[in-house]
Amino acid sequence: MVRLQVTELRCSYGEKKAADSVSLHVDKGEFVGLIGPNGSGKSTVLKSIYRGLTPDSGSITLDGEDLLSMPYRRSALKLAVVGQENEVPFDFTVEEMVAMGRAPHKRLFDADTAHDKYMVHHALEHLGMENMAKRSYQELSGGEKQRVLLARAIAQESDFFILDEPTNHLDIYYQMQIFDFIRRLRVTVLSAVHDLNMAALYCDRLYVIKNGSVAIEGTPEEVLTPGNILDIFGVRSLVEKHPETGRLSIMFLPSEQK
Ligand code: ADP
Ligand code: MG
Repeated sequence: MVRLQVTELRCSYGEKKAADSVSLHVDKGEFVGLIGPNGSGKSTVLKSIYRGLTPDSGSITLDGEDLLSMPYRRSALKLAVVGQENEVPFDFTVEEMVAMGRAPHKRLFDADTAHDKYMVHHALEHLGMENMAKRSYQELSGGEKQRVLLARAIAQESDFFILDEPTNHLDIYYQMQIFDFIRRLRVTVLSAVHDLNMAALYCDRLYVIKNGSVAIEGTPEEVLTPGNILDIFGVRSLVEKHPETGRLSIMFLPSEQK
């Protein structure tokens, strides 16, 4: 069942085209990755889906409903977003940041219900951050901030996650912990993924974005071939199936070998 359908999406920043005729879909329960070089347009596509950017043309539907004309609160209830911009202007505590995930469920100045409090606690606990609840968000490391933003998405109780390189500040332990955690949530995911090995390990399908367009799409096996990796990223590689996971494992090679 198709949950998200993006059709012929075009976006620009002023005169500059950033997405050109992008079409993609995400089925229920899938973990779909967007990969591609820096500046290729991954964040632009995600931003138009979570409504941080109004596209020039194209359509986006979520569960058959037109997303671009949906009231903002309704789309905020349906999509949990972990974006790249982590800075907040005020000095919120970790707990307050996570509690913002409850906002689409409430009206302004509604008091927190027992369920709101439970969800905030539950999300922090799952990311091993209960002991940081009262800390200042601004004082956390980049990686800790990203875990808080993920906790906020979890507290929101949406079953569709839009992630923009959610683990790019994290060391390998937390990268894997977060992707494992998201997979166990059994939600539907569309994520820009920076690391090709993470894409191979966690994604069901991939779209390669290059110069604002979808260049290649398919399963990790179809997409992550040495030929494609050389075409897209300009790097030589050896791609093998890992004996334990059965997933692809990519080893990059220096450009000149003796
Ligand atoms: P990616 O996420 O794949 O690294 P982006 O979607 O962020 O790529 O960027 C696509 C292109 O749009 C890049 O050339 C980038 O410089 C440009 N761009 C992104 N955000 C803005 C912005 N706010 N204003 C102007 N240009 C932008
Ligand atoms: Mg980006």
